[in-house]
Amino acid sequence: MDFKLTPEQELIKQTVREFAEREVKPIAKELDEKGEFSVKLTKRMGQLGLLGMYLPEKYGGQGLDTLSYIIAVEELARIDSSQAATLAAHNSLGIGPIYYYGTEEQKLKYLPKLCTGEALWAFGLTEPDAGSDSRGTKTKASLENNEWTINGSKIFITNGSSELAAGVTVQAITKTEADKKEFTTIIVEKGTPGFKSTVMHGKMMWRASDTSELYFDNCKVPQKNLLGEIGDGSKIMLSTLDNGRLSIGAMGLGLAQGAYEMALKYSKERKQFGKPISHFQVIAFKLVDMALKIELARNLLYKACWLKDNNKSFSKEAAMAKLYCSEIAKEVADEAVQIHGGYGLMKDYDIERFYRDQRLLQIGEGTSEIQKLVISRQILSE
Ligand SMILES: Cc1cc2nc3c(=O)[nH]c(=O)nc-3n(C[C@H](O)[C@H](O)[C@H](O)COP(=O)(O)OP(=O)(O)OC[C@H]3O[C@@H](n4cnc5c(N)ncnc54)[C@H](O)[C@@H]3O)c2cc1C
Repeated sequence: MDFKLTPEQELIKQTVREFAEREVKPIAKELDEKGEFSVKLTKRMGQLGLLGMYLPEKYGGQGLDTLSYIIAVEELARIDSSQAATLAAHNSLGIGPIYYYGTEEQKLKYLPKLCTGEALWAFGLTEPDAGSDSRGTKTKASLENNEWTINGSKIFITNGSSELAAGVTVQAITKTEADKKEFTTIIVEKGTPGFKSTVMHGKMMWRASDTSELYFDNCKVPQKNLLGEIGDGSKIMLSTLDNGRLSIGAMGLGLAQGAYEMALKYSKERKQFGKPISHFQVIAFKLVDMALKIELARNLLYKACWLKDNNKSFSKEAAMAKLYCSEIAKEVADEAVQIHGGYGLMKDYDIERFYRDQRLLQIGEGTSEIQKLVISRQILSE
């Protein structure tokens, strides 16, 4: 076993840490308060090579391994979950389906511009009546005269409506026979007549990320916008979520790390009863529990990345890492607020934002309950 990061991975960690500290941290609170998506920071992520970083160079990427990408998400989430969400959703959910299932023509058409920071791509699976049960999709697509006509809507779609949003991969029903539905994925570019996206306001967390509702009203796209094979839609979307779980795990790990560091620092500075509160064993033991959970989470997540990078099955471990990292993010953020006392409840302190931001992690890209379902199916069939 080799627990050492490669020099390349160390460099990425360092680069993203500096970017997050210098450019994201100073404005994260204000963006959160205003609920404002940052075009500037997204473009900077493109300039730094963080978008599409795992793609081969011929598609505009850096040809990096999964762990490098996961470290980048972790480092961003250590400072701000909204920026980490923009990166993770674009890289795993936006780029993933096109890279893994697109034709060469589709890859060359879309991927290079998705690596620069000038354009983001979205993943359109969730619908008002189809969340955990993605087979509950109602959006329909029919093929006639070499064109798909799409009707339906999607909800909670990350990177769907900012000025950088360039399009979305949509799961639609293309046939229903008896009770059997055929799911197919189709590429829809922004600006296509009949396709509209609107920003969802009023989020508790990730307030500086772009969350959208998408509407398809007799939206017509060319037949060649089919992604993968007809009928492979569900397989494409669900396998994309396997990769997505690793990045949500990284968001949980990074958030927990950031919350822990804030709590550690505060506990050494805050004095009560004539000494720093870290001198009280009950506080020191809370910090121990936090550090232990983070260490376990990192080992589990990095192992899942290693499995993927070594072409081994990683679906169970990705679900475990997503489940564990997001659950410990909740526990660590909660204890970090406790250590901050009343100040932890005030917006002046970043821990207040971290406490809100962690709450998505147990819900997005498969709830904690659904992760347990995925893991239980696998362990019961082993
Ligand atoms: C900020 C944000 C960004 C998102 N980004 C995207 C995106 O980019 N693309 C996209 O397609 N989706 C996205 N989503 C949607 C997200 O993946 C869904 O919210 C999630 O899958 C849960 O679906 P739901 O909200 O409909 O909850 P539901 O499925 O209605 O679940 C409600 C509750 O019931 C439980 N439950 C449901 N089924 C079962 C079961 N079989 N057994 C036990 N418990 C069960 C759930 O665990 C949960 O506790 C995003 C959501 C948010 C909030």
